[in-house]
Amino acid sequence: MTAKIIDGKAIAQKLRERLKREVDDLKEKGITPGLAVILVGEDPASLTYVRNKRKACREIGIRSFLFSLPETVSEGELVRKIEELNGDEQVHGILVQLPLPSHVNPANILPRIHPMKDVDGFHPLNAGKLMAGEKTFIPCTPLGISVLLKEIGCRVEGKHAVVVGRSNIVGKPAGQLLLNMNATVTYCHSKTADLQKFTSMADILIVACGKPNLIGAGHVKEGAVVIDVGINRDESGRLTGDVNFEEVKEKAGFITPVPGGVGPMTITMLLSNTIQAAKQIHRLPWP
Ligand code: NDP
Repeated sequence: MTAKIIDGKAIAQKLRERLKREVDDLKEKGITPGLAVILVGEDPASLTYVRNKRKACREIGIRSFLFSLPETVSEGELVRKIEELNGDEQVHGILVQLPLPSHVNPANILPRIHPMKDVDGFHPLNAGKLMAGEKTFIPCTPLGISVLLKEIGCRVEGKHAVVVGRSNIVGKPAGQLLLNMNATVTYCHSKTADLQKFTSMADILIVACGKPNLIGAGHVKEGAVVIDVGINRDESGRLTGDVNFEEVKEKAGFITPVPGGVGPMTITMLLSNTIQAAKQIHRLPWP
């Protein structure tokens, strides 16, 4: 079997056209959605992510505000900036680009974002709501994965979903979201004994580790849907995922490429969450 390649770029593009129409509708009501991005330091990967997020905002008419703070910023200064943005009427979504320098503890920072402006969905209140199955901001990468599954017509209910990786920003919320969609969910992580035993049982396999080629054909069930979240750079600077794409595509039913799979969806969901935040703040219906 040769897998169907999930074209995240094309799916994201189609969604962005719809989101642009939503922004146009909001503008007619006098509301321009605004996203504030706080960047600390000059990590090259973070600079690229922030540039891409702001470009995507501009393309669909969302206003974006960048606050670049020095690497040496204190937790107090960062919190003061967040509090200022919490009260800014032009700002509907606030995003603190991670990772933060080692002297800043994200646990002291992220909960200071107003939950209604928490477009990354990392606030403990919103994480708790996701766990309780309530409507809330869902972290962008897991949300993007759920949209990809919908787009390829994958029925999640009753399926066995295996999530490799348990970070708070990808693995845990991805598994929780799939559980909310009535999958049976297994989490694997670096201490899992016999990873292959679990991954080869998956109807839906989500891999979010940051370990190139961790998953080969032997880890995958024939016909499985394989979603590769990993972003790694090889010696020549080429981007690769956590899945051995060439090998696994001969066995899976569907597979996401890297780049061009999950990545474009993550930014698209950030745009979507920002529009939802603007609607919620202005008490408009939130689907
Ligand atoms: P983290 O480093 O926070 O988490 C990695 C997870 O993988 C941990 O839970 C870790 O286990 C687990 N893990 C590591 N090695 C193994 C192994 N050998 N076997 C099984 N599990 C293992 O990373 P993130 O969740 O933030 O990101 C994961 C990957 O996804 C990265 O490559 C990142 O760049 C990418 N990413 C891509 C996005 C996109 O839009 N495409 C968005 C966000 C991230 P343990 O908990 O035991 O340490």
